[in-house]
Amino acid sequence: MPIARASIFVQAWEAVVSFFSWVGSLFGICGSTLTLTNKTDVKDKKLPYGNSSVTVTGTITSTNGNITNVYAAIINTATNDELYPKSTNPRSTTFNLGTWDSAIKFSQLAVGSYKFVVKAKNADGEVTLQDDPFEVVGAAVTTPTPDASAAKARNKTSGKNSNIFQWPLTQNFTLGCPYGKHTCTWPSHNTSHTGRDVKSPPSIGGAAVTAMADGVIQQVYKWEEHNNGVDARGNFVIVRHTIGGIEYWTLYQHLSSRNSATDVMPGDEGKTIKKGQQIGRVGHTGSGDGDHLHFEVGVGIYPNGREEPMNYFN
Ligand SMILES: [Zn+2]
Ligand SMILES: [Zn+2]
Repeated sequence: MPIARASIFVQAWEAVVSFFSWVGSLFGICGSTLTLTNKTDVKDKKLPYGNSSVTVTGTITSTNGNITNVYAAIINTATNDELYPKSTNPRSTTFNLGTWDSAIKFSQLAVGSYKFVVKAKNADGEVTLQDDPFEVVGAAVTTPTPDASAAKARNKTSGKNSNIFQWPLTQNFTLGCPYGKHTCTWPSHNTSHTGRDVKSPPSIGGAAVTAMADGVIQQVYKWEEHNNGVDARGNFVIVRHTIGGIEYWTLYQHLSSRNSATDVMPGDEGKTIKKGQQIGRVGHTGSGDGDHLHFEVGVGIYPNGREEPMNYFN
């Protein structure tokens, strides 16, 4: 091929390459400036219930400045519940999810369908780096029937405490909306209400909210740092309990901003907590018309087996 023709060919080829890289830059088809390698291997998998071999892995790399936010969570695809949501600002061009997040525990998931989501943000904006569906299968999580002694303990309770659970507040209160579908001023309660509300008067704003039984902290949700604080649940904490051989969980919502040394903090997941130990304080984060505690009780593994909490306090 004559030199002149070869040179025209090269120039034409360069023009083609340059055109496609320009189109690519417009649509991002030549690759994002954020990438995730060595990601958590769950895509389309059926994980056995109780599986403890899956841990969070992955390295996020930014080729355009620092990574300014990383978010990871397991989403229950049936309820859209976010489980173990975590976010952070790494202020660096690489970030290792594995060293950051030991709190996302695949072993604690009930049987069901989920997806594992990882998002990251840099100067180019936020990118979803992983959105992988998976299932937890195997022995169905049944709701255990409390044994006779537990049932008896419920019935013989008097006042505010049962032998199973201790009332989560130590000061006077007014009961609010009951558990379950009912008619009230909150439209969503016409469909369902997943817990029991306890409200003022007398004022319970700032009152200590305490663990209803010995347990292990499952999730600490810091509302202000997540979704810009739009989650209706506000700050919340979920605790797992094993009482008389039966698994229970309790959840405490709308807690005030955490700034007391005695409050449970994000990162406390997996730590033990004693009955009566402070979890947080009554607040009005999330939805609601004032300070109130919304708390939930379930038998089994969250979010299974929800019950009217007052069943334990008659
Ligand atoms: Zn209501
Ligand atoms: Zn409520």
